[in-house]
Amino acid sequence: MKKSADKKLKEKICNGERISSEEALALFSWDLIELGEAGNMRRSLIFPREEVGFIIDRIINFTNICEAACNFCAYHARANLIKPFELTQKEIYAKIEELVSAGGTQVMLQGGLHPDYTLDTYVSMVRNVKKRFPRIYLHSFSPSEIAHMAKKSSVSIDEAILNLKKAGLNSVPGASDLLVDRIRKKVSPRKIGKDLWCEVMYALHRHGMKSSATMTYGMGETDEEKIGHLNVVRDVQDKTGMLRAFIPWSFSPARTGLKYIEPATGIDYLKIVAISRIFLDNIIYIQAGWLTEGLKLAQLALTMGANDMGGVLMEETVVKATGIETKAGIEEFIDLITNAGKKPVLRDSEYKVIKKGGKDSRVRGFK
Ligand code: SF4
Repeated sequence: MKKSADKKLKEKICNGERISSEEALALFSWDLIELGEAGNMRRSLIFPREEVGFIIDRIINFTNICEAACNFCAYHARANLIKPFELTQKEIYAKIEELVSAGGTQVMLQGGLHPDYTLDTYVSMVRNVKKRFPRIYLHSFSPSEIAHMAKKSSVSIDEAILNLKKAGLNSVPGASDLLVDRIRKKVSPRKIGKDLWCEVMYALHRHGMKSSATMTYGMGETDEEKIGHLNVVRDVQDKTGMLRAFIPWSFSPARTGLKYIEPATGIDYLKIVAISRIFLDNIIYIQAGWLTEGLKLAQLALTMGANDMGGVLMEETVVKATGIETKAGIEEFIDLITNAGKKPVLRDSEYKVIKKGGKDSRVRGFK
């Protein structure tokens, strides 16, 4: 019975048909290699080129003072792992200057929900950065930061977005965590819930802004809830087409208030990549989360449905606070992608190719 259901599901996947939540749930019991092959097959239907892109970017975490103080976060000041800090405008400029000298094109400004920051604080930050670095693409903040700034300044979400856009903000990362209210109430009760996350996404779309979606799993959720998260993402994309990429990553409990949770495994990660690729039939790019999963697991993910490596980050503090530190440079990215049998491409924030890797896969660097 199960065999014939699996066969039917496989045919559906190979024909590029949309699968249901129940079918996605059944994929968790598939053999990993078979699931990975199905993920890769689905990727080839959605994105037939064997290219894998990456971008040179820098996350600038401008403050860790955060009134949400989520249990799953090791980064905020009250977790007592990093001293409270706020970067000055000058410090932000210096970091961007370093990025520009390294050929970088994208900045992700992200911080905690600072109790004293209003919409003006964020708008000035954007305006000043864009004035000084007009060519830098600002893929910055998050839906919870946007809801926070709107609330602090008593304006609507739409008005907050309009002001940020006018100041020069280009796009907003989806920073979705897990869009399951049962889990959010436990791990981030003072952060926005699923409905407000969706509301911010629809507002961004109304203002013509693009975004992405992420998934932080391994926080005590069930497989049904994982699929519930993917369902919210697929629905937002059906209605808007605004999501350029989807990025799943596992939660690292060790240094957080949830250290009793058993960490997710590498097998769990690869399954999530393949299932996301099959279920999210309306998203072109799935990123391999090398920062949290390590480079070798990310390389494997490229053969199971992922087709982007995200950013060669020059700096990152949030994941580092959990005790995980993975560093990579351009040469490593090129080797890793090439050795996965793919063609490395340097891309911009809109996923347009800037440079392609050499014809001979053994030749390092770009043409
Ligand atoms: S996850 Fe974000 S909102 Fe929650 S405590 Fe950390 S910085 Fe604050």
